[in-house]
Amino acid sequence: MKGRGLIFVISAPSGTGKTTLVRAVLAELPGLDFSVSYTTRPPRANEQEGEDYHFVTPALFQKMIERGEFLEWAEVLGNRYGTPLVNVDHLAAKGIDLILDIDTQGAKKVLEKLNQAVLIYILPPSLDSLRERLVRRGLDSTEMVEMRLASAKKDMEEARWYHYLIVNERIEEAVEKLKAIIIAERCRKDKALILGKKNRSGGSSWQG
Ligand code: 5GP
Repeated sequence: MKGRGLIFVISAPSGTGKTTLVRAVLAELPGLDFSVSYTTRPPRANEQEGEDYHFVTPALFQKMIERGEFLEWAEVLGNRYGTPLVNVDHLAAKGIDLILDIDTQGAKKVLEKLNQAVLIYILPPSLDSLRERLVRRGLDSTEMVEMRLASAKKDMEEARWYHYLIVNERIEEAVEKLKAIIIAERCRKDKALILGKKNRSGGSSWQG
């Protein structure tokens, strides 16, 4: 039987390169999947329904809250975002590890409900570099860039209660660090193994 899958919560201020980082790690590490959130935010030009998010109306999102369909949900810059419980239950039971790309409010709620969740915070090298990236990616108005920076500053104070911090200075290095964290967590004896089973030759063996 497969063990329970691990839950990796990844948070970062917008523009830190989190999406690129998560995509690279998903492509390189087997046994890992992405939890597609629901949101009331309209899709951006490059976003696909069911891949980046499930885009829903505020009314449907509200119904989902009332039906208890979210592990957690939060409001970020005027839009609602939620992690569907069904993903977590289904994949975790199959022994597939899951990445949740959610904000710090959501991370706190996940940790309260699933105390084995692993929390990883991605930091930009500096606030100036973050401003540059936000302007360069060209998705937001100047006003929105300033809003995102103000919210990033506040958000980064929350990084202190995360289990791991990664500064995304060079994407290749950040990818290696995230992979290393996931691999190390998979090797933790309290999460991955049941110790002390006797094998046929009488020695001890370990059962996953
Ligand atoms: P964006 O609109 O830039 O895609 O996301 C804005 C913020 O919402 C990001 O910090 C992202 O991590 C967060 N977010 C995305 N999905 C969820 C979710 O399901 N729950 C929570 N709490 N935050 C989410």
